[in-house]
Amino acid sequence: MGGRVGGCHRREADGRGVSARASSPLPLAGGVGGGPVPASGDALAAISFPPLAPPASGRGTVVPNGSLADFIWFRTGGPAEWLVRPADIADLSEMLASLDPATPVLPVGVGSNLIVRDGGVPGIVVRLPKAMAKVSVEDGRVRAGAGAMGITVASAARDAGIAGLEFLRGIPGTVGGAVRMNAGAYGRDVSDILVEATVVTRNGAVETWPAARLGYVYRHSDLPAGAVVVEAVFSGTPGDPVTIGVEMDRIAAEREASQPLRSRTGGSTFKNPEGYKAWALIDAAGCRGLTRGDAQVSEKHCNFLLNLGSASSAEIEALGEEVRDKVKAHSGVTLEWEIQRVGVFPSRSREGLGEGVSDTCSEQALPQPLPQAGGEA
Ligand SMILES: Cc1cc2nc3c(=O)[nH]c(=O)nc-3n(C[C@H](O)[C@H](O)[C@H](O)COP(=O)(O)OP(=O)(O)OC[C@H]3O[C@@H](n4cnc5c(N)ncnc54)[C@H](O)[C@@H]3O)c2cc1C
Repeated sequence: MGGRVGGCHRREADGRGVSARASSPLPLAGGVGGGPVPASGDALAAISFPPLAPPASGRGTVVPNGSLADFIWFRTGGPAEWLVRPADIADLSEMLASLDPATPVLPVGVGSNLIVRDGGVPGIVVRLPKAMAKVSVEDGRVRAGAGAMGITVASAARDAGIAGLEFLRGIPGTVGGAVRMNAGAYGRDVSDILVEATVVTRNGAVETWPAARLGYVYRHSDLPAGAVVVEAVFSGTPGDPVTIGVEMDRIAAEREASQPLRSRTGGSTFKNPEGYKAWALIDAAGCRGLTRGDAQVSEKHCNFLLNLGSASSAEIEALGEEVRDKVKAHSGVTLEWEIQRVGVFPSRSREGLGEGVSDTCSEQALPQPLPQAGGEA
């Protein structure tokens, strides 16, 4: 990217080149900043959010009001103020370096762990292109572009006779999301297999971080806000491809039987509190099947929320909060969101109340999960 903010050239999704000298496409009264932000939707920050100059794009695509609901799993929520798909690492680095440091940047994968609020996401949302999803095996290690899906990584490891990455077969997200979330299942998580990750920091520096630098605990990393994982190297142990394949098939079948995989969902809604399973607490509190509008607590697996068709993100999030309240009242345990809630509630007017929050930087560390026979949930 040419580092040209405000006077750059961008391409629309259909490939047409248009002038990008435009003001902020989202009429925002509140927004997220580049640093730590409030943890829940009760923040009523009347922060003014200045019109954002379009990000520089030389070779990638930059779309104003880019739809996120088109691809995130819940299929709900507002657009990205600017949806950027960089061409490659250098392109991403140049774009980030050229931004005002106050501009919020949110990387997304396929949104299998996201609620995007109905008012959209202020600032820049970065979605990596297919060109950044390549997977290769070198010296018994798997090197994966952060846009690659977990199943692709697990399959490459199987074919190369590398055991220990099978659990990625069951996690329907990208490498970037998995590295950020310390995704895991069946008693293993990314912290067990990650050697190093290449990260483009918010100021555009390209750095390779050893896994230890990510400060992993249960479903959490210390990756700073706005930093984008672009590549990861994973290691395992030597194994027999046939045996590894059998284990992957077992995981797939078990998931199919126990989780609403073909639904609009965001995966496990809450982290397992120490000593408990979230689903069991939710079930005991009588929340299985609970609905709010078209949002429902899954009958099949009650730590999953579903969009039955026309739910809004607000309904899904409110249902989650209702579940938290009921669990607290029933068992005294406070559930902590695992799903990342990002973006802002719809503004009542341009000058009106802005309730912009994102919880992606505010997770609290929890101890390691209990070993579970049935995967993460
Ligand atoms: C049916 C189902 C089953 C699931 N099962 C599991 C499971 O067993 N175990 C588990 O851990 N999770 C599970 N999940 C949740 C989800 O799949 C994981 O959290 C996954 O790692 C999210 O990946 P993603 O690419 O979709 O990330 P997104 O949902 O798009 O984003 C999640 C977070 O990662 C950040 N992020 C995404 N890409 C990048 C990047 N390139 N650089 C930096 N940050 C990035 C986002 O900003 C956000 O904070 C499940 C979800 C579903 C829908």
